Amino acid sequence: SMPVSMVAGIGRAARDGVLVKGGEHLELVGKVTAVAFDKTGTLTVGAPRLVDVVPVEGAAERDVLAVAAAAESGSEHPLAAPILAAAAAQGIVPSVDHGAFVHHAGAGVETTFEGRTVAVGTTSLAAELGVEVDAVVLDRLEQLRLAGRTSMVVIDDGTIVGVLGLADEVRADAAAGIERLRDIGVEEIVMLTGDSQLVGDAVGRAVGIDRVRGDLSPEDKLAAIRELQQRGHVVAMIGDGVNDAPALATADVGIAFGGGATAVAVETADVGILSGHLARVATAIDLSRRTARVVR
Ligand code: ADP
Ligand code: MG
Repeated sequence: SMPVSMVAGIGRAARDGVLVKGGEHLELVGKVTAVAFDKTGTLTVGAPRLVDVVPVEGAAERDVLAVAAAAESGSEHPLAAPILAAAAAQGIVPSVDHGAFVHHAGAGVETTFEGRTVAVGTTSLAAELGVEVDAVVLDRLEQLRLAGRTSMVVIDDGTIVGVLGLADEVRADAAAGIERLRDIGVEEIVMLTGDSQLVGDAVGRAVGIDRVRGDLSPEDKLAAIRELQQRGHVVAMIGDGVNDAPALATADVGIAFGGGATAVAVETADVGILSGHLARVATAIDLSRRTARVVR
């Protein structure tokens, strides 16, 4: 059975807002040498606002919004709500067949709307759907990303009709939380995001992470965790999304983080930090090291 001090350690952790699923996990937390963070909803607030709706030539802004809202209407992704809200504010409430909804984790969403296939997501999603992304669209995406906006293409019946830009805020506690990890001697801190490299880099600068990997699929995030492990690290992955689940499962310690953490992330993780300051990640590592000392 579990040593009493370990039980006490789990209790202490819970009082600090760190929910640990079992003693074996608590012990591993203290051995962590590398920490990988998701971006959206983990280092950022995860409440993006829709700030740009850019139609391609010949398309109307209202139609771009309607198509995007239709595609998102079955989605729980943090990017969906602001798109649906912006559409609703213009009186657009698309009626769609939810049976046709497909979520491409880390890439976007797709559904059937008024007999057409509509989608919103990354250029990888466009490629997957066989939709051409021309130079004008790529240029628009780059402009938005240079401004720090998460941006996606809107697809209607096989063509791109517009581009969306969403602005999310960096968590106020993120930089301090990252600094605490360095203070307690965590050797490597990286960001793994499904968003573009440009937006990842901008957030990285704001929070003090210089190792940023963008444009990652959920499987790419998993592979990045494996690489850290192969270099000898004990790795913690901190994330909130469906797209983070494979990486959370593969990491030595998966930590579901934040008030918006999805059920899938919480179920997959070994540890939950579902509210409070990002520095709780460092607190958990520190506490686990001290608990281990008592056990031995
Ligand atoms: P992160 O790794 O930063 O948490 P995700 O992996 O969830 O981000 O998403 C990566 C990218 O995939 C987003 O930046 C967006 O371009 C696209 N995407 C994912 N889900 C959606 C969605 N529901 N609607 C539109 N785009 C999406
Ligand atoms: Mg996320």
